[in-house]
Amino acid sequence: MPTKSYDTIIIGAGIAGASAAYFLTKLGQKVLVLDKGGIASGGSGAAGAFLSPKIGVGSPLKDLTDDAFSFTIKFYEKNFNELYHKTGVIRVPKDGDDASKTSKYSKFHNAKYKELSPEQISLLGFDVKYNSTLFFDGGTCDAKEICFELSRNIDFKCKNVKSITKDDELWVVGDVRAKNIVLASGFENDLFDMKYIGIKGTWGNRGDFSSQLKLDISLHESLSISANMDGVIKLGATHELEVKEPKLCDENKAIDLKNRASGIIDTSDFELLKTYCGMRSGSRDFAPVVGKVIDVANMLNYPNILNGRKYPIKYIDNLFILNGLGARGFVLAPYLANELAANIVNGAEIDNRVNPDRLFWNWVRKQK
Ligand SMILES: Cc1cc2nc3c(=O)[nH]c(=O)nc-3n(C[C@H](O)[C@H](O)[C@H](O)COP(=O)(O)OP(=O)(O)OC[C@H]3O[C@@H](n4cnc5c(N)ncnc54)[C@H](O)[C@@H]3O)c2cc1C
Repeated sequence: MPTKSYDTIIIGAGIAGASAAYFLTKLGQKVLVLDKGGIASGGSGAAGAFLSPKIGVGSPLKDLTDDAFSFTIKFYEKNFNELYHKTGVIRVPKDGDDASKTSKYSKFHNAKYKELSPEQISLLGFDVKYNSTLFFDGGTCDAKEICFELSRNIDFKCKNVKSITKDDELWVVGDVRAKNIVLASGFENDLFDMKYIGIKGTWGNRGDFSSQLKLDISLHESLSISANMDGVIKLGATHELEVKEPKLCDENKAIDLKNRASGIIDTSDFELLKTYCGMRSGSRDFAPVVGKVIDVANMLNYPNILNGRKYPIKYIDNLFILNGLGARGFVLAPYLANELAANIVNGAEIDNRVNPDRLFWNWVRKQK
C-alpha cells in the first residue's frame, strides 16, 4: 500500500526535472523526484552546458530562447554564481552562407554583443575564417552540479518508473502517491501515449581535456569549446541522429572533437581527462513542450476526428510534461520550469510557444 504523499512527483532528474522541483518547492509544494540512474544521469550529466542566445531572424523559438537566456543567466548569477562561468561566448558562422547573414542577423540580437573580425578573434586564441559574434553574457555552467543544487533538500529516490496508476484522484508510483505528475524523462517517453509530441533523441559527446592553453572566452561553431577553467577545456557536440539507444561512451569520439577543435585552437598539449556522452531530446517541431498532456485515447473516440474535425481538447488530469529542450536545456529549463510551476500551483497560462497542444492536430490528421 502507498505510504507517503506528495503534491507532485517528478519523473527525471535532469536539468528539466531538477528545475521543476526547484520552482515547485519555491511555490510551497512538497515534491519527490524519481530517476532511474540518479541526479543528472541522462543527457544533462553529459552536457557541456554552454549558455548562449539563439542566432537568426526573429521567430517564436528565437524569441523564446532569448527570453529564457535573459532569465536564466540572471537566475544562475543570483542563486548559483559559483557554478556559472560568465566567460562570454563567440558564435562563429558554420559556413560561408551562414557568414553572409551575420550582419542581417545582428538586428535580431537581444543580448549584449559585439561583432569581431577573424583578426580580433585570433588575439583571443582562436583561428576562425569569418566575422563572428561575441555575446558577453554567455558562458558555461557546471551541468551536474547545477542539477544537484537545484534539487538540494528535495526528496529524491533512485527508481526506474515502469508504470503509473491512479487511485482516488491521486497518482500512484510504487509506494508513493501525489496529486500531480511531471514527466521530465528526456528522450524516453513510453509511460503514456505521447506520440503526438514526437520526442526523439540526438546523441552527443563531450571530452574534457587538461591544457595550459590560455583561453578566457568560450566559442561555439559546429562544436563548442569552453574557456580554460582551472586547467580544463571542455569540447562538446550533439549531432548523431542515427544513435537510437544510449551506449557506452567512446574515447575516440572525444579525440574526434579534439581533432576538429585543432582547426580552431592549439590543442598540442591536450590530454583527455574524461569522456561523456548522452542523448538530448527534441520534439516534432524542435521547440520545447511544457504543459498538460492530452488524453489521446479519449480524443480518438470523437467521431471523424481523423478526418480533420476539431473538438475541445481533453487532458489527462494533473499530468504535465517538461521536455524537448534540444541543445539548450541549460538555457531553457529554469525559465520553462518557472512557468510550469506557476501553471501547476497558480493556474497561470502556459506560453503558446511551448504548449504541446500545437502538435496534436497535425499529428491526428496523419493517423487515418
Ligand atoms: C554531449 C551533450 C552536450 C550538450 N551540450 C549542451 C550545452 O552546451 N548547452 C545546453 O544548454 N545543453 C546541452 N546539451 C543538451 C542538454 O543536455 C539537454 O537539453 C538536457 O539534458 C535536457 O534535460 P532533460 O532533463 O530534459 O533530460 P535528461 O537530462 O536526459 O533527463 C531525463 C532523466 O529522466 C530519467 N528517466 C527517463 N525515464 C525514466 C523512468 N521511466 N523512470 C525514472 N527515470 C527516468 C533519465 O534517467 C534521465 O536522468 C547537451 C547534451 C549532450 C548529450
